[in-house]
Amino acid sequence: MTKATPDVISRARELRDILADYNYQYYVLDDPKVPDAEYDRLFRELQELEAKHPDIVTPDSPTRRVGAQVETSFEEVKHRIPMLSLDNAFSADELRDFDRRVRDRLKTTDDIEYVCEPKLDGLAVSLHYESGILTRAATRGDGYTGEDITANIRTIPSVPLKLRGDSVPDLVEVRGEVYMPLEGFETLNKRLADRGEKTFVNPRNAAAGSLRQKKPTVTARRPLEMCAYSVALEDEGRLPPTHWEALQQVKTWGFRLNPEMRKARGVEDCLQAYDDLMEKRQSLPYEIDGIVFKVNRLELQQQLGFVSRAPRWAIAQKFPAQEELTVIEDVEFQV
Ligand code: NAD
Repeated sequence: MTKATPDVISRARELRDILADYNYQYYVLDDPKVPDAEYDRLFRELQELEAKHPDIVTPDSPTRRVGAQVETSFEEVKHRIPMLSLDNAFSADELRDFDRRVRDRLKTTDDIEYVCEPKLDGLAVSLHYESGILTRAATRGDGYTGEDITANIRTIPSVPLKLRGDSVPDLVEVRGEVYMPLEGFETLNKRLADRGEKTFVNPRNAAAGSLRQKKPTVTARRPLEMCAYSVALEDEGRLPPTHWEALQQVKTWGFRLNPEMRKARGVEDCLQAYDDLMEKRQSLPYEIDGIVFKVNRLELQQQLGFVSRAPRWAIAQKFPAQEELTVIEDVEFQV
């Protein structure tokens, strides 16, 4: 660790302010000021400064927090289990470093089994079911407190209002991504433009804006879909031993899983999954911004635990930005 110079301290402060502003625009207003690649670059710069000079870290640093504080008229919902972010790997070597850290912590030289899931570009939701009935849906918010969007979630056809089958637990939380497929996004934007209304910058913001509508009847007209990607039981029931099997169970309850999900053994297999998904990316009917790797055995996930804003058992490997040039309020950038 080296002592931070005044220049470093001032640059870190500047980055914190810029990122906090970008977070507000992105998470609260659903209206990003800059492309994700630019946000990621500044975030990484701040992370590197803080790693070199831990004494400059502040508790409110964007590197220590998830999302942004919500400021809406929706009711607040406290998450029983925090809804965290994901660490990012931007290269094959960074993914290999992640895998090495996982094996070091688990004290094993064996290949780890991972589940590889497309990183859908939408927003995370938490759904609570009591005796099989959807009773509450919430956004991630700042990871600890989200917004109650139950009435809006109920309008999405791929969200089961009642779980199917005989093995339905008393209390369960299912998490997943709500997103807007490309075709629906284009049709929606055309409809808005025809009416002279403001269009959405990208499908992610269209999904977020649609889900946080005051009137569920407006959400109901928006082409939203949902895919489940995690589950936690809140009663005495037990989940199967792996994330993969747990998701198959979620599927039997009536949820949709992403069809591109697969298992990989060892990090080189994960890198192959990354290449394969990259190749398919353009032909998918929805946007993805990377691939998420999760340690498959739930027991190992528990052993690995969490750091401040992300689990140690998962990582997102981002795809290079693919984007057309857009002009928004005099700022020229790629979305
Ligand atoms: P993240 O990239 O850290 O990843 C976590 C999120 O991934 C989850 O909340 C979930 O919504 C999503 N996800 C999709 N598929 C998933 C899967 N299979 N399993 C688990 N999660 C899955 O998300 P974040 O913390 O919301 O955002 C950080 C990213 O958002 C940044 O890297 C940046 O690209 C973007 N961002 C951009 C701006 C901007 O101004 N352009 C501002 C803030 C954030």
